[in-house]
Amino acid sequence: MTMSVSAYPREKRNPADIDALVLASLQASATALSAYQIADLLSASGHKFTATQAYRTLARLISRDKVRRVETLSAYAAMDEVCDVMMICKSCGALQSMAEPTLKRQIENFANAHHFAMDRVALELVGNCLQCRSED
Ligand SMILES: [Zn+2]
Repeated sequence: MTMSVSAYPREKRNPADIDALVLASLQASATALSAYQIADLLSASGHKFTATQAYRTLARLISRDKVRRVETLSAYAAMDEVCDVMMICKSCGALQSMAEPTLKRQIENFANAHHFAMDRVALELVGNCLQCRSED
């Protein structure tokens, strides 16, 4: 028995295309997005995307340092610069990533001093950005 051509998905996507779609949706967003929000955004633009696909794709992008998980928000942001400290505005959701290697080293030393084998560190500050502060 042979399969007809119409049995195949109309839009055949490879992992690189899928990665590019997810990355573009994060880059276009001013705030971090959850896997479900990414799936909804892509589905709304005709790409038939599930949250499971989004999680799988995000894991790939994180391993390539293109995306970072924002632990405080359980969401994701496109980010290819070094980010030792993430500042999250609770009013507008704006993210600001900062390189602060000294602080990161101090935390690593602290963990070592307490015989704690640290896998990773997520330094996230929650507050108000300059723009939201000036609107008060
Ligand atoms: Zn703000």
